[in-house]
Amino acid sequence: MFYESTRGGLKSISSAEAIKRGIAPDGGLFVPDGEIKLSLDEIGELAHMNYRQRAAAILKYYLSDYSDQEIEECVNSAYTFEKFGCEEIAPINKLTDNIHVLELWHGPTCAFKDMALQILPHLLVRAMKKTGETHELVILVATSGDTGKAALEGFRDVDGTRIIVFYPSDGVSEVQKMQMITQEGKNVNSIGVIGNFDDAQSGVKAIFTNEQLIDIMENSGYKFSSANSINWGRLVPQVVYYFSAYVDMLKNKEINLGDKVNIVVPTGNFGNILAAYYAKTMGLPVNKLICASNDNNVLTDFINTGFYNRKREFKRTISPSMDILISSNLERLLYELTGHDSAIINIWMNMLKNDGGYTVDANTMNKISEIFWAGYSTEQETLETIKSVYNDYGYVVDTHTAVGIDVYDKYVISTGDLTKTIIASTASPFKFNESVVRAIFGEEGVAGKNEFELLEILSEKCGIPVPKGLQGLDKKEIRHKTVCKKEEMEKEVRKVLGI
Ligand SMILES: *Cc1c(COP(=O)(O)O)cnc(C)c1O
Repeated sequence: MFYESTRGGLKSISSAEAIKRGIAPDGGLFVPDGEIKLSLDEIGELAHMNYRQRAAAILKYYLSDYSDQEIEECVNSAYTFEKFGCEEIAPINKLTDNIHVLELWHGPTCAFKDMALQILPHLLVRAMKKTGETHELVILVATSGDTGKAALEGFRDVDGTRIIVFYPSDGVSEVQKMQMITQEGKNVNSIGVIGNFDDAQSGVKAIFTNEQLIDIMENSGYKFSSANSINWGRLVPQVVYYFSAYVDMLKNKEINLGDKVNIVVPTGNFGNILAAYYAKTMGLPVNKLICASNDNNVLTDFINTGFYNRKREFKRTISPSMDILISSNLERLLYELTGHDSAIINIWMNMLKNDGGYTVDANTMNKISEIFWAGYSTEQETLETIKSVYNDYGYVVDTHTAVGIDVYDKYVISTGDLTKTIIASTASPFKFNESVVRAIFGEEGVAGKNEFELLEILSEKCGIPVPKGLQGLDKKEIRHKTVCKKEEMEKEVRKVLGI
């Protein structure tokens, strides 16, 4: 399998090269140049494997330039009981006959980003070796909150790498901020940006394509790479858990091999749901992919109309990891759906950048409608969902997962479809504890308490322990204090690197 840029500027590069580069020099994203198909029998065989084996079995198709041994080393280092606290790694929890919650937040930072960011550094270190890389890699990350911490944790003290994370200084939760500014490790930096996630993301993209800076870096022994979901190495590990969830349902006799399932994904940058789309193209029996948004419902509108319009108010919500108006990975979907038409992708992406939007052609729109269903959950609806899920099932979900469950309810009401459904649960409720406690126990539950006190309260009231990664966070030393304007991001990078 080789990789090419969605903008047409680069073709036939290895997966190691694509992972090392992160983003293509023409600003496009790397996508596989061919398709992979698994037979139902091959899918069924995954049922007898553990998560690491399932991961190795899926990854080897896409990372065909890695040896079996290299892939095994990567999955065995990433998906351990020690890091995930459970042997299943991504366990599935049956809420009702139809709703199967795929818990993706058992990793060290309590959000689904760990599923990819625990393995990406291992893939990357091997990619550097395989491509004879002599420069030190500088991983630049823009985060809406969860990627930053997961990337810092994944890359800390990894030889040959440095990592610089930019987060919106007022756009993340207290817990998320503390996780990032207390990060330990000799190669790590986290920097607040005055602005929102889109400001941080476009700032990072601008640095990646700044040729003058790239030259200076090159001469000083550095090269940029990305740990955002624009990096293929972030995306491909996410394909694994959809297969894993399907075969777990098979094992539990919830479905028969070949039965279709729906998959609901609380969506921001379109990375997680795109991984589900790739799983479907590989032969996973999927009925609908349901794209769940919060009040920043640019994707809901796009999937329902074909008009992508980022020119709207950016809203800060209680599901901040989905507060995004420019969903980068949509570019990959459009490239796939247009049959790898980089000319049209260039036109749409330029319109997005210059005019704030674009409309896809009827053919592409038809394909989107066939594959996807989209809806959004308001702030009030999200809170009510947390409460009713707790009351009805004694199960505590975070705000992002609640968006998914609420949109799924809307899907069932609107379509009457009762196909069994996997709902991706993307964060631990402890990570967004303030909203969760408020939803379940009301305003008096949160009055006068900070997020760290609320961790304990949530733990007591719901009878679940505070996750290891969040214990004692408020007492940790603050190590990263820099906050900058978005125009100053390049300067801050140069300062960190001393160039
Ligand atoms: C990142 C994130 C999302 C959005 O995922 P995308 O891949 O960006 O669409 C949803 N929920 C949580 C908790 C996240 O951290």
